[in-house]
Amino acid sequence: NNAHKVAEIQDMLGGVFVLKTLHDIGCHDDIAETADTIKGNSLLKAQYVWDNYQLDCFADDSGLEVEAIDGAPGVYSARYAGEHGNHAKNNSLLLHNLNDKNNRRARFKTVITLIINGQAQQFEGVVKGQIIATPRGTQGFGYDPLFLPDGYDRTFAEMDIAEKSQLSHRARAFKQLVAFLQKA
Ligand code: IMP
Repeated sequence: NNAHKVAEIQDMLGGVFVLKTLHDIGCHDDIAETADTIKGNSLLKAQYVWDNYQLDCFADDSGLEVEAIDGAPGVYSARYAGEHGNHAKNNSLLLHNLNDKNNRRARFKTVITLIINGQAQQFEGVVKGQIIATPRGTQGFGYDPLFLPDGYDRTFAEMDIAEKSQLSHRARAFKQLVAFLQKA
């Protein structure tokens, strides 16, 4: 139901497939994301739609995994500081928890679960980088101002959408999904 994501994915599918949103199929449920992994939540959401609507479908789930704190915030990325979607608080807590750490390695991960005829299959996209000490940039969302992708001297928040989409975890996962669907 995220209009921005729908437009982006419809564009990647190149007009070959017609994408329907939860709204389009009459699903207005709030699907609880109760799994304890990104992969698990991705599966849970797609499985919910298959189980209740018997429609071929996919769902994505993403998060940031930081090495020095055992992969946190991971599946809890959206609500790391307690309040869903409070990016400023999440970023402050992350910096606080990394205060005494030398290892700043991190990666963004997206897992897409596709279900066709009840059979699930998953695609994973990853982008590696590091967490800087002071936020930089105003674009994007979430942890973007803190994430410096490997090979770049600008954070995700210092890149425009087109540039971020060349290398993002989400784009990498969706490229695999699109390639799979085009072969199917
Ligand atoms: P979602 O599964 O795409 O909704 O992502 C869950 C959470 O992970 C978001 O609320 C953000 O905190 C974080 N996140 C995922 N993707 C990104 C990104 O591209 N930039 C920054 N934060 C992200």
